Amino acid sequence: MSKYCETCGMIHDVIIKEEERTYKVKDIEITENLYITYCNVCQNEVYNKEMELKNDIIMFNAYKKAKNLLTSEEIKKLKEELEWVNQFMTKY
Ligand SMILES: [Zn+2]
Repeated sequence: MSKYCETCGMIHDVIIKEEERTYKVKDIEITENLYITYCNVCQNEVYNKEMELKNDIIMFNAYKKAKNLLTSEEIKKLKEELEWVNQFMTKY
């Protein structure tokens, strides 16, 4: 695969590496393995639209997952509080 490298100022062969990156998506910090494209000549990061799209999907899915976990945790907490209140109510 060849991409335009801004550092070299020309189209060069690129290599794609899977790397762990942390991004802030809205209110959550997400760490995921993303596809990072590097110029095979200068080893600098190169913009790669296809991989950016792929990374966006990975981040979006991770965000949804994180949000769901958060919600189910909140529900659990709420249930526990409600049970505690119910116990309190029957006793007195
Ligand atoms: Zn380069």
